[in-house]
Amino acid sequence: MRHFPIYLDMNRQAVLVAGGGEAAVSKLRLLLKTPARITVADPSPAPAIEGWAAEGRLTLLRREVEAADAVGVSLVYGATEDAARDARAARIGREAGALVNVVDDLKASAFITPAIVDRAPLTIAIGTEGAAPVLARLVKAAIEARLPPGIGRLARLGQRFRARASTLPRGRARRAFWKAFYDEAGPRALERGGERAAETALEGLLHEHAARASNGAGAPGHVDLVGAGPGDPELLTLRARRALDRADVVIHDRLVSPEVLELARREALIIPVGKQGFGPSVPQSRIDALLVEHAGAGAHVVRLKSGDPTVFGRLDEEIEALEGAGISWAIVPGITAASAAVAGLGQSLTRRGRNGAVRFLTGHDMQGFAEQDWRALARPGEVAAIYMGKAAARFVQGRLLMHGADPATPVSLVENASRPDQRILATTLGDLARTVDDARAGGRLSGPVVMMLGLSPRAAASALPARDVPGAEIVPDHVLTPVLEPVLKEATP
Ligand code: SAH
Repeated sequence: MRHFPIYLDMNRQAVLVAGGGEAAVSKLRLLLKTPARITVADPSPAPAIEGWAAEGRLTLLRREVEAADAVGVSLVYGATEDAARDARAARIGREAGALVNVVDDLKASAFITPAIVDRAPLTIAIGTEGAAPVLARLVKAAIEARLPPGIGRLARLGQRFRARASTLPRGRARRAFWKAFYDEAGPRALERGGERAAETALEGLLHEHAARASNGAGAPGHVDLVGAGPGDPELLTLRARRALDRADVVIHDRLVSPEVLELARREALIIPVGKQGFGPSVPQSRIDALLVEHAGAGAHVVRLKSGDPTVFGRLDEEIEALEGAGISWAIVPGITAASAAVAGLGQSLTRRGRNGAVRFLTGHDMQGFAEQDWRALARPGEVAAIYMGKAAARFVQGRLLMHGADPATPVSLVENASRPDQRILATTLGDLARTVDDARAGGRLSGPVVMMLGLSPRAAASALPARDVPGAEIVPDHVLTPVLEPVLKEATP
């Protein structure tokens, strides 16, 4: 982050704009929304600028900028659309100790103006460090479309109420109050009866929360057992996103991707409790205790598990611990690795005439390699997703062949399903162990792998990898949020 976003109090600032053409007008349109003292210097200013000067909204100097103009000024814009004149303005600004921006010249600028979504006092600044201004504008449009219309009014009401709300104890109690207002009570009241109703709602809510705080009963804690999906943050459910937005504490497994963790509320306490196959791990009893401890203290805890929490997630042990402690909980399903893997293969998990059932197996359990109904699995057309199976490849192969499976049965190893480094190794049951050994000897297959028994990748020319959405070539993947995608699709012929 070379450009650090801050919000400047424009009440106290003087701004100097060198230039009087189109570029200056567009900067001034923004600057005039602020209470800053504005001076414009240009020998032949555009009519709009003349008009603003006549209204007394800015001071107009009908000449080139001079050193004296920059005294006491904190921001100087070079907006003459002429390189030599801009360079002169920039020099004058820098010598006066001001921050300088030269329009369309990143190198000469000490600061840049972001794209702004203006629902004052809610303002959203969007920047790409000058790398992709068009992208910033697309993101702006997407956010504009998404924001509820009343949001600026709610923020203004909230602003007026801040002093009153500071009678609540700082921290969780106060946060819970504001959350309840902006999430539910505020928008509902505004829609029903306008600002008056929203104000009444604020009063009522404050009363309720103050009473709760004074009798020591903080809001009760809660645990959401959330599926983080296979890694791609776009494969999170909306409910998972919301839980992450609201979390006080996030307790997550090793396989949860950093991109997903990034979405947790910034103030949330993040606790990794990674478990790695047979390797060292935080004992389950300690995880159970952590959940109870934090939720018991009133926190909204998100227990984040890769994929779907109900698939090989040791979920029941955690639920039993929560039940035992009388703590409320809910399951938020996620996309399991098998679903992401077949999507990568371009195949279906079930298919009429081939398999009317699909099994999810684990390659190993607490005792070691896991025994299964091998006879059933060895039948032609069977499809199974084998989790935690890398180390068990030779064992699985041996058992299946022993029970009469065809060595030509396809097996696809999908590593890092849904992630940018997703890799697919297509092999057969007869070659499975050798393929895995070779790959691992070559330093491959170091990520999570799900083995898809009975499926090979579809060889179809028209099947694009899922992430090849239009526009992806100019945009880093993680920027392609679901909000933005429709905009990009529309903008790309
Ligand atoms: N609850 C998870 C599974 C946890 S067990 C789910 O529903 O997906 C951990 C195993 O899941 C790993 O050993 C691997 O077999 C599989 N797995 C998880 N994420 C994966 C990914 N992105 N790609 C491939 N396999 C994955």
